[in-house]
Amino acid sequence: MSAFRVAMLASGSKGNAALISSGDRNFLVDIGISCRMLDSRLKEIGLTAQELDGVFITHEHTDHVKGLATFTKKYSVPVYSSERTWQAILRKDAQVQRRSCRVIGRSLDCGGVQVRSFATSHDAADPHGYSFDCAGSKCTYVTDTGFITDVVRDEAAGADTLILEANHDIKMLQSGAYPELLKRRILSTRGHLSNESAGWLLAKLPQLPENIILAHLSEENNLPQLAVETVQNIFNGCRRSLDARLLVAAQNNIVTDF
Ligand SMILES: [Zn+2]
Ligand SMILES: [Zn+2]
Repeated sequence: MSAFRVAMLASGSKGNAALISSGDRNFLVDIGISCRMLDSRLKEIGLTAQELDGVFITHEHTDHVKGLATFTKKYSVPVYSSERTWQAILRKDAQVQRRSCRVIGRSLDCGGVQVRSFATSHDAADPHGYSFDCAGSKCTYVTDTGFITDVVRDEAAGADTLILEANHDIKMLQSGAYPELLKRRILSTRGHLSNESAGWLLAKLPQLPENIILAHLSEENNLPQLAVETVQNIFNGCRRSLDARLLVAAQNNIVTDF
């Protein structure tokens, strides 16, 4: 059984925050919701922000850092990201308190949990995903990537909990109301991952994770049921059984794997 518990506090283009816990260690990936909403969602699962051991920021887009300035003013929890992501964040928002900012290299030991950062392919300064390792378990978080790079595939392999972007249904996006330029951006190799690409990554993994959480679904260009069906159909086509717990994260409510 996985050593990690995950609570997707919010997920989607309006804001992202994920709680990843192991034992009494609690980590957050991204603060793309207001600090007030973060506090209230943490309270729903019996936690406070002070109990967090660290926050890991994937990239500087607003849906990942919206509550960061207030968070760094209110709390003394260390916040980690890459050097170039910090530069981009601080350029955009002078209210972020520098005393909270820590640069993460390739990896970090956080009270017995190894946290590793890895590059994703997205139109941000230096976007990253994160893998958490503890007691032989691995939890990998990867959203906001235009395609499955080798490093993303390697990080997803062997994870027993995988949080994976399933941003859009390609047909819904193509026939939808978004301006052409935005459609092209989302579909590009530095855009967002489609349901199909997520499904193919999973179908090609030598061993399936115990828990899979589809994340960062577009409210305009996707439906939870469609994301699940697309993944299921790819598995059916490969004659492979989808032998995992498959959850879909949501924008407006908490989704947990515990
Ligand atoms: Zn982004
Ligand atoms: Zn995003």
